[in-house]
Amino acid sequence: MSDHPTNSQSLSNSAPTDTLFAKIVRREIPAKIVYQDEFVTAFHDISPAAPVHILVVPNKIIPTLNDATPEDEQLLGKLMLTAQRLAKELGIDKSGYRVLMNVNHDGGQVVYHIHLHLIGGRPLGRMVSRAD
Ligand code: 5GP
Repeated sequence: MSDHPTNSQSLSNSAPTDTLFAKIVRREIPAKIVYQDEFVTAFHDISPAAPVHILVVPNKIIPTLNDATPEDEQLLGKLMLTAQRLAKELGIDKSGYRVLMNVNHDGGQVVYHIHLHLIGGRPLGRMVSRAD
């Protein structure tokens, strides 16, 4: 992947001008796109972790959640509501699903263009154990 922070602008102050997902948004790289509007694009993950694994990305490049600003409030809401709608369309809303965003190295982020993972279609188990 070409936009890891070690070889992209993520460690500097300048905004990245391109990412793998921006190329998918512009349809320069093929992907199984399931939804697109002027703000967000959703497509199947190339390496699905479950029967349903969709990535919901803003068309605009925001490298990590740390880079989002109050101006992005509506856009972040759109990502969530797009995931919710796709979960319904894909028939996993009743059985259940997980929506998550990885942030930076320890969070497991690999592509530095924020995205929600919409994962479902099988029991996913508990990801975080309760301390008590
Ligand atoms: P992250 O670890 O950054 O949260 O998630 C990146 C996700 O992007 C991974 O689940 C990975 O499988 C997916 N991915 C990486 N490259 C491509 C690609 O070229 N096409 C698609 N559709 N998904 C990709």
